[in-house]
Amino acid sequence: MERTFAIIKPDATAKGFAGAIISRIEKEGFKIVGLKKMHMTKAEAEGFYAVHAARPFFNDLTNFMCSAPCIVMVLEKDGAIKAWRDLMGSTNPKDAAEGTLRKEFGESIDNNATHGSDAPETAAQEIAYFFSQLELV
Ligand code: UDP
Repeated sequence: MERTFAIIKPDATAKGFAGAIISRIEKEGFKIVGLKKMHMTKAEAEGFYAVHAARPFFNDLTNFMCSAPCIVMVLEKDGAIKAWRDLMGSTNPKDAAEGTLRKEFGESIDNNATHGSDAPETAAQEIAYFFSQLELV
């Protein structure tokens, strides 16, 4: 079983889409092994997205991530990393396929509803950034 890290970003949480997204996660066969609502600080958002520090959108992205609460999760499934990225759809909701979460709940490339790890190393890093072992059940 593989684990991945997922976020219901501030835009989707604020719009009341969390329940629908979590319901979809369960329907698609993921096991939720960790889940909490949190309001990131700017420093926490910058640490999380450190890999994008040199990108032009870094400041807007980190301001957005600490603008309101979000829901962070650890999801488990065979091939969870790819399965969750497939369920999310393309980064830009305008390019996302029908039936994907970003198509249904995203609004723009910077308000795109969800986050998902892109590889086993980043999944391990991101899970450890937000969760302690004791919080994963
Ligand atoms: N992003 C943005 N503007 C861009 C590219 C990315 O605001 O031009 C944001 C977007 O919210 C995206 C996040 O930065 O989800 C991380 O970018 P990445 O390319 O890693 O996309 P993801 O893995 O989230 O699909």
